[in-house]
Amino acid sequence: MAHDPNCLFCKISQGLIPSQKLYEDGEIYAFKDINPAAPIHFLIIPKKHIPMLESAELADAPLLGRMMELAPRLAKEQGCRPGKDGGFRVVVNNGADGGQEVYHLHLHVMGGPRPWKK
Ligand code: 5GP
Ligand code: ZN
Repeated sequence: MAHDPNCLFCKISQGLIPSQKLYEDGEIYAFKDINPAAPIHFLIIPKKHIPMLESAELADAPLLGRMMELAPRLAKEQGCRPGKDGGFRVVVNNGADGGQEVYHLHLHVMGGPRPWKK
């Protein structure tokens, strides 16, 4: 697995820094955001160090697809209501203009009853 020893999310996915883990498999790790912007807010990351969405390659497409497929399953597990009246938001911040602060690709999954902070 390609990790960056200086990367916060690489350290989290390896258990070197504690997190509230929601899911883990050989390629993917999911955990609660430390500063939630919504009642439910968690992050889904690849274990492999991919800095940004634009660093992802065609070979990463199945991994990205699996992360997207995991989002609604974990959202429901975390209490997001299903269907039109419920739901959740999935966000990827890419680069400074996209508001990215941690340079290890992550999906934000946010949900729960409104109002939210963002
Ligand atoms: P970005 O702005 O890069 O898209 O989002 C980074 C997210 O990571 C932010 O929502 C921030 O709250 C979260 N975050 C930053 N450091 C930590 C940490 O040490 N642990 C956890 N669980 N989340 C973090
Ligand atoms: Zn990393």
